Amino acid sequence: MGRTCREVHEWIEEEVERPIEEWEDRQEERCREEPCNWWLLCLNKLVCWLVWVTVKVVRWVVVTVGKWVVRTVCTVVNFLLDLLGAIWGLILSIPILGGIIRTVVNWLLEIFWRAVGIFDFILSLAGVRPRKKMYFSIIVPSNGRTPLMSEAALQPWIETAIEVFDRTSNIDLRFTGICNTSVSPPGGEIILDCGAGGFFSDWWVLGSWFEFVANLCKFESNWRRRSGYGGEIIVFVIHGYSSNSLGCSMGFTHDYVTVQQAPGPFNDTVAHEIAHACGLLHRTTDGGNNLMDSGPRTTSQPDLTNWQSSVVRSSRHCTYL
Ligand SMILES: [Zn+2]
Repeated sequence: MGRTCREVHEWIEEEVERPIEEWEDRQEERCREEPCNWWLLCLNKLVCWLVWVTVKVVRWVVVTVGKWVVRTVCTVVNFLLDLLGAIWGLILSIPILGGIIRTVVNWLLEIFWRAVGIFDFILSLAGVRPRKKMYFSIIVPSNGRTPLMSEAALQPWIETAIEVFDRTSNIDLRFTGICNTSVSPPGGEIILDCGAGGFFSDWWVLGSWFEFVANLCKFESNWRRRSGYGGEIIVFVIHGYSSNSLGCSMGFTHDYVTVQQAPGPFNDTVAHEIAHACGLLHRTTDGGNNLMDSGPRTTSQPDLTNWQSSVVRSSRHCTYL
């Protein structure tokens, strides 16, 4: 079952099934306590129980059928959409042509969803921030059976990212898992240039590899990534950088960010790169307190300003649905 279907399923359980069950429990108690009125031949008590049983049966049938329909229809539709997304992704994996289309399409999606999110941005600036959600996952190249980085080593990055966006921006950052890929990167090792050269190398075979592997690993999130709305951010662990970087993001024109295998001195590298992908630039005026400081951090609980939070919250990756 795809992500969207799972969420609809959970919604039915939480918003429909559970309230009715709670009502049933209250009704059961009411019926138990209802005095038997002898002049009504105890019918009042009987009616109470009848209502209880009827609601229970109807609820069971409707919810069971409803869930089945959701599971079947949603899964089929979702699969077809993801498949279309994957085919589109294969086209985007073509070196140069695919790379250029990818960049242009991401630009257009960014402009479109920023325009849609403008009211949310203003509300957020004013301090009105209902909970939103955002998804991310990590892809680790695995040479043979040894992944470039272990799950245990990745854990602090994951936890810090979830904590930072929750605390600063009321965002429920959901981690969808680690994918160890055995598809070997071009040249065997990924040493990325994080400057302008990196932006253009994304149009060549390395960019194709990122795109192709993301398609394979995260099939379930393909159509959301293609539509841009609630598109998952993919974090690639790579071998290193040609410069002295810990991580790299090409900003909102790219759905993926990279971090280097050796855990740096800070646990917030993944959070920092995700924030870049959501449109944030560096900010070095807060004395190492800010998540977007490019220098050493002076706190384990980095902050985001009101403006930064609002930019992240109105990014296409961050949605209510
Ligand atoms: Zn940075």
